[in-house]
Amino acid sequence: MSFSHLQLATPILKALNLCGYRGPTPIQEQAIPRALEGLDLIASAQTGTGKTAAFMLPALHRIASPPKREGKGPRVLVLTPTRELANQVTDATRKYGKFMRIRSGSILGGMPYFEQHRLLSQPVDIIVATPGRLIDHMEQGRISFSRLELLVLDEADRMLDMGFSEAVSSIAAATPSTRQTLLFTATWDKTMTVLGGRLTKQPVRIEINGKKSTLDQIEQRVLAADDMQHKSKMLQQIISDKTVTRALIFSGTKRHADQLARELSEQGHAAEALHGDMSQNARNRAILKMRQGRVRLLVATDVAARGIDVAGISHVINYDLPKNAEDYVHRIGRTGRAGASGIAISFVSARELDSLRRIEHYIKQMLPRHVIHGLEPKFGLRSPKTATSGAASTKRPHASSGFAKRGAAARTTQQHDSAPVSRKPRRRRDGEWTGQFRAKHPASRRHSREQSFRYE
Ligand code: AMP
Repeated sequence: MSFSHLQLATPILKALNLCGYRGPTPIQEQAIPRALEGLDLIASAQTGTGKTAAFMLPALHRIASPPKREGKGPRVLVLTPTRELANQVTDATRKYGKFMRIRSGSILGGMPYFEQHRLLSQPVDIIVATPGRLIDHMEQGRISFSRLELLVLDEADRMLDMGFSEAVSSIAAATPSTRQTLLFTATWDKTMTVLGGRLTKQPVRIEINGKKSTLDQIEQRVLAADDMQHKSKMLQQIISDKTVTRALIFSGTKRHADQLARELSEQGHAAEALHGDMSQNARNRAILKMRQGRVRLLVATDVAARGIDVAGISHVINYDLPKNAEDYVHRIGRTGRAGASGIAISFVSARELDSLRRIEHYIKQMLPRHVIHGLEPKFGLRSPKTATSGAASTKRPHASSGFAKRGAAARTTQQHDSAPVSRKPRRRRDGEWTGQFRAKHPASRRHSREQSFRYE
């Protein structure tokens, strides 16, 4: 299918042409025609699937026709959980609305009020906002939703996780009941059903198996780590490889992100930190630098995970594993975007085993274990089925969810092992899951990449 089949306004098609998109992604193919019909939607789609355009193109199509009512309030309101995501949506508005005369802007926490007051003092077509700051403006009587036609909730699940449930309800209650509502969420659970029931009218449900299709583009690896020093050495080894063109390194705390970014800079790498304690301008600058190729290593906390849309991130490195399995999927989704392939490497220490277990359970997949030659862990990730030994130079012990003494971990196989194929799903007494996951195996092309990592 091509975009011209979707009957979008000509200036939008022109902009899409400029973007070089060959055709709509699955979420766009399903969501856009229905949104253009004016239907409410609840769409489950991960970031990286093209979901921003799935709501922004119909939004712009609306703006291409004159407003139904007079006034200066926005005709389209997009709510996002984080400033980074809001910026990404605002960029998309500009990109896809390049050949249209639209007035749009963002209302974000952490940014000066002055410019936001100016934005709201004139008629505006599209506003992208985080809920907290928008409520501030509503309470000050600075924004009217009298002509609002379309409300979009982007990453609604995350908004609820972040405690914005009440704010979202108040905002929705202040908008006309005639509005159209598009709700996008990465995960679907009871709270989302309740929210969807409250905010949408006879919604069309769209489910894109984004988790899988996104993950399929990404080669995932797990490396056992003894301690922070070991992690640091493994990181050095990985980033010394030239195939790491742009890497996003996730750290568990803001302080550590700063420290690691500083250390990497001192070692001569183009590295910067990105976390929630930095001003919005500093955050934007760091992202821009990476986009422009002036920063090669961005050390981030999870606040960055959802919003960053930098093309060509070759590697995501989880220096610390996220506690939340969904965050893992979001983190690694920063690479392998829009059909490109990427590599996600996670360091796992003994205390992070529970997180690893949760992640593997969530993605229903055992992550392949790797070892860097010369940096073998004292304790490796144990295999449910012991690998054949013999190849001293190899790097890929079998997958498992437990730690084993070095001997077991070091038993490796030279080939890419075949899947430790599932027996019936079963949880052992020690809490380990066995049998229910099917390990994914890298295609042979990945072998050469591993070699370039000096895993041999
Ligand atoms: P999103 O899921 O909205 O964060 O989008 C992920 C990436 O896909 C962004 O970099 C978009 O520019 C890109 N993208 C969106 N739609 C398409 C498309 N139809 N074809 C190719 N890339 C796309």
